[in-house]
Amino acid sequence: MATLRFMALNELSHRQATQTPECEQKISDYFGADVFDKEQMRRYLPKEVFDSVNSAIEDGRRLDRKVANQVALGMKTWAMERGATHYTHWFQPLNDTTAEKHDSFFEPMFGGGSFENFRGDLLVQQEPDASSFPNGGLRNTFEARGYSAWDPSSPTFLVDKTLCIPSIFVAYTGEALDFKTPLLKSLSALDKAAVDVCQYFDKDVTKVITTLGWEQEYFLVDEALYRARPDLVQTGRTLMGHTAAKDQQLDDHYWGAIPERVISFMKEFETAAYRLGIPLKTRHNEVAPNQFECAPMFEEANIAVDHNTLLMTLMRKIAGKHKLKVLFHEKPFMGVNGSGKHCNWSLATNTGVNLLAPGKTPKTNIQFLTFFVNTLKAACDYGTMMMSSIASESNSHRLGGHEAPPAVLSVFTGSTLSDILDQIEERISDKKLSPDEKTGIKLDIGKIPEILLDNTDRNRTSPFAFTGNRFEFRATGSSSNCALPLIVINTAVTEQLVQFKKEVDALIEKNIKKDEAILQVIRKYIIESKKIRFEGNGYSEEWLQEARKRGLQGITTVTSAFKEYIKPQNMALFKRYKVFTETELKARYEIKNELFLKKVQIESRVIGDLAANHIIPTAIKYQNVLIENVKGVKEIFPTQYEELSKEEIKTIHSISEHVKSIREFSEAMVEARKKWNNVADTVKRAAGYETEVRPYISDIRYHIDKLELIVDDLLWPLPKYRELMEL
Ligand code: ADP
Ligand code: MG
Repeated sequence: MATLRFMALNELSHRQATQTPECEQKISDYFGADVFDKEQMRRYLPKEVFDSVNSAIEDGRRLDRKVANQVALGMKTWAMERGATHYTHWFQPLNDTTAEKHDSFFEPMFGGGSFENFRGDLLVQQEPDASSFPNGGLRNTFEARGYSAWDPSSPTFLVDKTLCIPSIFVAYTGEALDFKTPLLKSLSALDKAAVDVCQYFDKDVTKVITTLGWEQEYFLVDEALYRARPDLVQTGRTLMGHTAAKDQQLDDHYWGAIPERVISFMKEFETAAYRLGIPLKTRHNEVAPNQFECAPMFEEANIAVDHNTLLMTLMRKIAGKHKLKVLFHEKPFMGVNGSGKHCNWSLATNTGVNLLAPGKTPKTNIQFLTFFVNTLKAACDYGTMMMSSIASESNSHRLGGHEAPPAVLSVFTGSTLSDILDQIEERISDKKLSPDEKTGIKLDIGKIPEILLDNTDRNRTSPFAFTGNRFEFRATGSSSNCALPLIVINTAVTEQLVQFKKEVDALIEKNIKKDEAILQVIRKYIIESKKIRFEGNGYSEEWLQEARKRGLQGITTVTSAFKEYIKPQNMALFKRYKVFTETELKARYEIKNELFLKKVQIESRVIGDLAANHIIPTAIKYQNVLIENVKGVKEIFPTQYEELSKEEIKTIHSISEHVKSIREFSEAMVEARKKWNNVADTVKRAAGYETEVRPYISDIRYHIDKLELIVDDLLWPLPKYRELMEL
């Protein structure tokens, strides 16, 4: 009987690249065509309504209910002219997906007839049942109901005849149950703190926005082969599979020619993305076979996060049309590179200045240094919380591997900036500066842009690297919602800027000149954050030892990393800037643990089932072939068979050994699960799953992968790595 593996391989051999209809138009002709953006608003809304919405967007002001009715009317008209029949509040619950429930505009009338309706209250608020989304016990303590509320700062858009309204999602009692709510809060806290600091340099700055440019890595596999791998289907990664003889060791995939099937998929999702206003710029092959990346031009962070989650949904959907499956798991294949979602983070002012780009004059460079050094200090004080924000079951397979940032946070600044920081540290002291010293420092600071311009220093081993005009947080996992790391960075930097202003103002009050006061505080922070700076190879053993010496804490286990959520220092930070309440943090802590635990539980069940139902029967079948063979040899060569069948007998033996180990480990794994399932406390159960259940998954895998090398290829039921990683 043909196994699913061979049926899939057979299907694959007939597979042609799907032809994507070539779009004749220039991208700029249809960019944003499916978005109710400002231009469309201006067209579809009366002027005073447009002005209200605009100020709601710009200043975060609340929208009047009456105005909402008019906006709803304009939106409905715009959407229906484009064929829309439904609308939905579109939000990001705490499980790294997006949620939507479609309602039709259509309304039947009593006594016959019907019409299309969409009112302001439907635009502004909906009431989904919060209990079916991760809520970390909030529904036990409070009411089960939750509501989603329109976020006017992210434009509504049209997907498949449904008007999608970007929304926040909160419990009925006000606790956030999503990523967007705290993100928006952190963005506005940072805006305020940064504007205050900018006042030292430029009185015209009234708004500072956070910019985010994400880079999304992903794998593609053929859909038929995917379906023949229950582990991929159920867990998003392969729980078994011996590495292929050749994978990425020849470095022949990175930036290589993109396979035809893939380019056709890329073109289709890019077209859809452009229509939705997602400004994709880059596409290329990544390091591992079947691994790719796309990245847009950076945008305001709230919109960038929406665009990333929306794009992930689009990619999943469109992949199907090309008989492909897109894998966002951080480590779908052992032994080759995993996938990240690098977050390029910076701050921009309403006056058009990137606060993390060195300026042209010493004055603007002091501003640059201010924001640069404050970010360093924030990373130093809250680095463990930053690492905790990206900790997840799936990302832990990638972190600390040789292609991903290590689990200890450090910052790479590049040697030029590092030298400048060292010089500031040495030359500025607490005493007043002499005129000569001042000029010297100004000259040095003035040099920054020239040196940085041709400074192509790139360190790919650093989790948080400064890359010329932004920080790149490279530890974020490919499957996660990148709002969380942003929330942490934003809040930590807010705190830092507030402290900075306090300290500078105190010096100014003591009659120290502004520039000098700023430099003195900068110097203090340079010294205090020194331990976080590391220019060397973050993958090396030396760094781990060095980090230990410096007292830098890293992620040791995933569940212990979650504890950062409820550390008093962190809770106080988030509370101070009203980003999270304690209740929200506790709920998130619970959710993190629960998701972790469930994922390990699923993986453990899947590998148990596959071992028992697929692998062991196959191994025994092949062992019987060998046994028959030895028996036959014995019959023909009764005196010589022991010598002749030596290798076969050895193989029969080792199959038995592997099967025995798999059975023993599987049994022990089930026992461990039972033990921890009896523990009511989620946090303890998760930790137990991590230390006592999870290791069995790789123990079992080890023996399965050995069997894969022994057993007849024709009998092996699951597509192999060499087959999966070929497009
Ligand atoms: P690399 O692979 O070298 O890191 P990419 O071109 O793949 O570079 O990605 C760089 C990302 O950084 C892009 O999304 C880009 O828009 C983003 N970026 C550039 N400048 C900024 C900025 N000021 N703020 C935020 N993101 C930025
Ligand atoms: Mg990058």
